[in-house]
Parts: sequence; C-alpha cells; structure tokens
Amino acid sequence: MSTLASQVAVVSGASRGIGRAIALKFAAAGANVVCLARTAENAEKTAAEIRALGRQAWSFGVDVADPGAINAVAEQILAAAGKVDILVNNAGVTKDTLLMRMTEADWDTVLNTNLRGAFLFTKAFTRAFLKQRSGRIINISSVIGLIGNAGQCNYAASKAGLIGFTKSVAKEFGSRGVTCNAIAPGFIETDMTAGLDEKLKEGLLRNIPLGTLGQPDDIAEAALYLAGPGGRYVTGQVLTVDGGMVM
Ligand code: NAP
Repeated sequence: MSTLASQVAVVSGASRGIGRAIALKFAAAGANVVCLARTAENAEKTAAEIRALGRQAWSFGVDVADPGAINAVAEQILAAAGKVDILVNNAGVTKDTLLMRMTEADWDTVLNTNLRGAFLFTKAFTRAFLKQRSGRIINISSVIGLIGNAGQCNYAASKAGLIGFTKSVAKEFGSRGVTCNAIAPGFIETDMTAGLDEKLKEGLLRNIPLGTLGQPDDIAEAALYLAGPGGRYVTGQVLTVDGGMVM
C-alpha cells in the first residue's frame, strides 16, 4: 500500500539498524527518502536499496554532532528533494560507563549526537515545515529515557531530553499541522546491542513479557504508523515498542 506516496522522508542514521529499516519501510510505502549517516558512502548503501524499490533516494554524509555542518546539509537536502514531509531523528550512540568513571567527553558525545543533533535538524527544517503547514517529526528515544539504567546516565539523559523536546515541539508546531512524536524502543537487535554479553541478554529477556529481543522492523512499523494516515491525530506521544518490558 502506497500510504506515503510522493512524500519525502529524511532519516538520520539510515545506514544501519533501526534507521535503515525505517528508510526501507517508508520507501516500500511509497516515500522518496533522504538517507543520512556520518559518511555519504555508508548512507548510499541504503539509498541504493531504495532506488532498487523504484523510489528516489539521496545520500548525504553529516555528523549530527557537528553543529556547523547541519544547516548546510539541510539546505542541500531541500535543494535536492524539493521538500521534507517526514523527519526521523534516529542517529544515536552510546558511551556506557558508570557515572564515577564517565568523562566529560563521554557525556558530550552522547548528548551532542542524540539530543542536540535532533534539535539542530528539527530547527533546520522548521521554516519548511511551518510554511508547508504539514509534516511529521519522529524522534527515536529509548525505554532507557523512561526508566534510566546504571552505566548509561549520559544516554538516559539524552533520551529523556528527547521526550521533553518532542512534547514541546508538538505544542509549538501543532497549530501548523505538524506532528511530533517519539518512539521508545526496548532492546532491539542491531550493532548497538550486538556487544551485550549473553548473561545480560538472558537477564533482559526475563523482564520482557514477549520473551524475545525486538527487530529493527518492529520500530519501522511504529514509525510508519506515526508517519502515515493513521498518525494524523497523534502528537506529543511516546510510543513504547519493547515487548512489554516497561509498563
Ligand atoms: P546502530 O545500529 O548503532 O546505528 C546507528 C546509526 O546512527 C548508524 O546509521 C550511524 O551511522 C548513525 N550515527 C551514529 N552517530 C552518528 C553521528 N554522529 N552523525 C550521524 N549519524 C550517526 O544503532 P541502532 O540500534 O539502529 O539505533 C538507532 C537509534 O535507536 C539510536 O538513536 C538508538 O539510541 C535508538 N535505540 C536503539 C535501541 C536498540 O536496542 N538498538 C534501543 C532504544 C533506542 P554511521 O555509523 O554509518 O555513520
């Protein structure tokens, strides 16, 4: 079903994992997709998969933690694609360690990538969204932003910050027909969680009622709902997709 026909979606962190799954899901639903990653080469891999589906795709390399780079790439995106209907702020990193060992660099890298990157990208497209009087912004938060986690105070702060950011943007942009929601994934099998040791995974699974880790496609389905016709009247929400881990 082409529920996103002729729409343009911009997805950060589209080279792998959840972002790649969202980019491909949106393309399968009819969208043309701008794929972002730290290097254009990595983003291009997903863009090529999207073109093979018969959609238009563009790839750009941008470090979302680099404030100097974002406005320029946003302008290039608007020049190439002509508009933006859907923005998915998905790029994210972890630098896990206990608070007493955490360096300022660990803190800054995670906050600047996960939270400031979303702020800067959303800001860069604000004029376009408000002028257009329609749009969907989807921020990829985390259950860790809801419940915290030992060894992840920087990550939890960034993901909780994204939730406050989401609700504020929803209130600011609502009157112009632009929605802003967050998705809070639980533990999803991607490169980000590949390093977790088996004992930890077993412990996690005991707390997941559905008894399995999630797949990137589970998050892509939630993003498609928020971006598609079904999400028309939904804004300022946090959609938790975690097999029941947090309730
Ligand atoms: P992943 O497999 O590690 O992929 C991360 C993506 O972000 C890659 O495409 C990477 O691109 C991009 N990226 C990282 N730093 C970047 C930067 N500074 N500038 C631009 N792009 C950057 O991670 P994932 O598991 O798919 O996670 C995606 C999002 O979901 C993240 O925000 C993460 O916090 C969130 N999340 C994940 C889980 C989970 O269990 N996996 C759970 C909750 C929330 P390149 O490396 O190619 O540049």
